[in-house]
Amino acid sequence: MRLHEYQAKELFARYGIPVQRGVVVERAEDVPRVDLRYPVVLKAQVLVGGRGKAGGIQLAHTPEEAREKATRILGSQIRGERVRRLLVVEAAAIEREYYLAFVVDRTARCLTLVASAEGGVDIEEVARRSPERIVKLPVDPALGFHPFHARGVARRLGLAGALLGQFAEVACALYRLACERDAELAEINPLALCQGRWLAVDAKLVVDDNARPRQQDLPADEETTELERLAREYDLSYVELDGDIAIIGNGAGLVMSTLDMVAHFGGRPANFLDVGGGASTEAMRRALDIVLRKPGVQALFINIFGGITRCDDVARAIASSPPPVPTSIRLTGTNEEEGRRILEAAGIFAFTDPEEAARRAVALARGG
Ligand code: GDP
Ligand code: MN
Repeated sequence: MRLHEYQAKELFARYGIPVQRGVVVERAEDVPRVDLRYPVVLKAQVLVGGRGKAGGIQLAHTPEEAREKATRILGSQIRGERVRRLLVVEAAAIEREYYLAFVVDRTARCLTLVASAEGGVDIEEVARRSPERIVKLPVDPALGFHPFHARGVARRLGLAGALLGQFAEVACALYRLACERDAELAEINPLALCQGRWLAVDAKLVVDDNARPRQQDLPADEETTELERLAREYDLSYVELDGDIAIIGNGAGLVMSTLDMVAHFGGRPANFLDVGGGASTEAMRRALDIVLRKPGVQALFINIFGGITRCDDVARAIASSPPPVPTSIRLTGTNEEEGRRILEAAGIFAFTDPEEAARRAVALARGG
């Protein structure tokens, strides 16, 4: 789960990482009322990177200018995401931009510090252009990350004196935050040098979804949609995409291959839902309800390979609430004959071959 910049910065402040004074606003008319020193920076709170280049970061010198710019950003789209909130901060006088992050390195199975004196820009680009400008340090989880490690890194970045010590403090605080908050990524880009002080001008925090149960005081996850949350409540795994064919299958592997088949025949999945093994009639009914609630669904593809899941249970759910969109069904496995009988009685046909069914689903979505 990714946090908004303002949410990440609230955590930063609690861990002693210096951030600018700021206020979150949702309406442009509230902007001139904020009690901040001008100039201010208006920052679109959307969960995408590169907001600056996309016009989501704007400097304003007066309350009038701030209000006018806020009106333009709020409600607009930044890289496909609608802006609902702005973080307004006191503009920092930046002298130099550094990069500092702790990221989970899955291969090394530990958090790794990544730092560079070439911050502000896309770090992947720095890595490509001048890899020697990036300092990396894997952190042994048993030993932890200590001030002497941080000072070593600071030296490699060319820092000295008081700045070196303060950098080490920021790095240690960020490490502590990353560990305690189960972060997959805790990133400050830029970590800016402003009048002899460090300031976390941007903040990115991605929390491991598996750690949700022990990170209950974190804000609500805004990346999951309402339907995804509803599915989770029912213990169904559901993911939204942006095509027009709704997909239901049983078992993660089958669902993935179903998506591939649909794509192979030129269709675009609107979403997919895995009813799991041993899906009951009730679970299947809920599954149908959820995938079909998504706006813009033109066709439904149900791909069931009965094992523990029984075809008759699945068929009963489909027959009792026939889908309101054209539907292609593939049904094989346990109690297949019974399942087919139930469907036939309701005037519904089912394929045995998954590819034929996939091709049909794609044709149905095209109005065929
Ligand atoms: P991002 O584009 O989504 O990464 O958003 P950032 O918060 O990192 O802002 C992008 C860039 O805008 C930064 O790298 C800075 O160069 C600039 N910027 C953001 N806030 C300030 C500020 O308070 N003062 C100054 N001088 N520049 C800023
Ligand atoms: Mn940034």
